[in-house]
Amino acid sequence: MSENKKRIVIVGGGIAGLSAGIYGKLAGYNVDIYEKNPVAGGECMGWNRKGCHIDNCIHWLTGTKKGTALRKVWETVGALDEHTEFADCDSFYTSIKGDSRVTLWKDLERTKSELLKLSPDDAMEIEKFIEYVKYAAECEIPAEKPMDAMGIMDYIHMGVSMADMPKVMKEYGSIDLEELSKRFKHPALKQLFTDYLPKEYVASSFLVSYASITSGNGEIPMGGSLAMVKRMVNQFLRLGGNLHCNAPVVRILIENKKAIGIEMADKEKVLADYIISSVDTMEMFDRLIGKKYMDAKWQSCYADNEKYPLFSAVQAAFVADKTAYDRKGTIFFDCSPFETGGRKVERISVKSYEYEPEFAPTGKIVIQVNIPQFDKEYLYWKGLTKEEYESRKKEAVKAIEERLQMQFPSLLGHMEFLDCWTPITYERYCNAYHGAYMGFITRKGVKSFRVKGLLKGVQNLYIASQWIMAPGGLPVAVTAGKFAVWRIACKDKRMIDYNN
Ligand SMILES: Cc1cc2nc3c(=O)[nH]c(=O)nc-3n(C[C@H](O)[C@H](O)[C@H](O)COP(=O)(O)OP(=O)(O)OC[C@H]3O[C@@H](n4cnc5c(N)ncnc54)[C@H](O)[C@@H]3O)c2cc1C
Repeated sequence: MSENKKRIVIVGGGIAGLSAGIYGKLAGYNVDIYEKNPVAGGECMGWNRKGCHIDNCIHWLTGTKKGTALRKVWETVGALDEHTEFADCDSFYTSIKGDSRVTLWKDLERTKSELLKLSPDDAMEIEKFIEYVKYAAECEIPAEKPMDAMGIMDYIHMGVSMADMPKVMKEYGSIDLEELSKRFKHPALKQLFTDYLPKEYVASSFLVSYASITSGNGEIPMGGSLAMVKRMVNQFLRLGGNLHCNAPVVRILIENKKAIGIEMADKEKVLADYIISSVDTMEMFDRLIGKKYMDAKWQSCYADNEKYPLFSAVQAAFVADKTAYDRKGTIFFDCSPFETGGRKVERISVKSYEYEPEFAPTGKIVIQVNIPQFDKEYLYWKGLTKEEYESRKKEAVKAIEERLQMQFPSLLGHMEFLDCWTPITYERYCNAYHGAYMGFITRKGVKSFRVKGLLKGVQNLYIASQWIMAPGGLPVAVTAGKFAVWRIACKDKRMIDYNN
């Protein structure tokens, strides 16, 4: 193959794969993406049921703030442009505990006064929290080049632009959300801090998440997840990339310590100069290349579920009459106990998609319930027969429907079931390891997982996936795609042409 005709083959057409594809085209390569599903997008997905649209990813998209390096990446891949409209959401979420109701508003001052009014006894902790959320707004993940390629000037620049982040890490980087919640006296505040992210998460990641909302760096693009994926697909195709859907890859071909191509389910072999694996990394190790390539770091994280937990969810979507459910945002509330995935559930959340009128017929809205599930629950679901699985899902839907109607009696007779999905759905649809749709959770006192996305002893194989940096998510996926191509382009002494 001549130099300018070099070919990159990408396995997996999620956000990381699409990003790698687009950057690959911008660097002048021939690029083919092979995606097992009928449509690209992977975990960043939405689908239709009974005339409604179910959006199953973007709760917030970090990197929406203009002028940031990450925003530039989202614009380069076509996910956002200067005209992108964002959803009119005024809160992160609301927690109801007993008679108290408390909201983390987009407007931080509003949050502060609401929290102080609710619990003057917690004034010191509340004020500290608010102050540190402001500091955390500076946090940006590296989006220009991989961290290992950063020079002294890059680190100086990062140090200056995130001058207050060390304070956040000092105060909230060594406690988890459970400990953060214990710092507060009021039961509703205790509850608030363990509602959104698993209580095992290091508290600093929660502050960073909330800060991205308050600073306008974590908006939801209108149209939701699938619409954003479609814009990225269009960008890839416009640049001349080839997207092959319904194309499961069974093997990455490695010869003489060099990746040389892929093998499809129908035995067809496709050769290339570079392979980028954008699938779930366990799918890559387990099926595409073999576990012998999994080094000690990967092995120890996958093996230690205590230190590096993973999470998934049981979710259910309904369509409701707008007159019966007029709440905005995501609301957490206590409910009478029920079991799903073998786990006792006493608290659930419901998110309203009222900000997307296109998602439901006139006069209706889509609402969604999310119940966290961990490894144990995945194994529970996995151990069921097909019949048992279907019947447990039905039981979950019934229990959820009843709890919603108990909390919001106006829903009685005014809601209809749309769909229910579990950790097994993510496994089936995306080959997601144990149904996990984010990477390893960062726990307090445990080094946050991060690798370069290269494999020792195998040339020309690059990993672009949310799994290469905890806690995963869309920003990690999109930059992982860019960085894989950045490394290839550096090797070939090529430039990425942003003016294409
Ligand atoms: C309910 C939910 C809410 C979320 N909320 C947010 C949020 O608010 N903000 C945020 O930042 N992130 C969120 N995420 C996480 C986000 O969706 C993921 O981090 C991101 O989409 C992962 O992208 P990826 O490309 O690394 O992996 P994936 O999306 O898993 O892409 C991998 C692709 O590879 C394909 N594939 C797998 N095996 C093969 C094979 N053998 N051959 C060919 N193709 C294969 C899969 O079908 C898939 O398309 C959420 C996810 C879910 C499910």
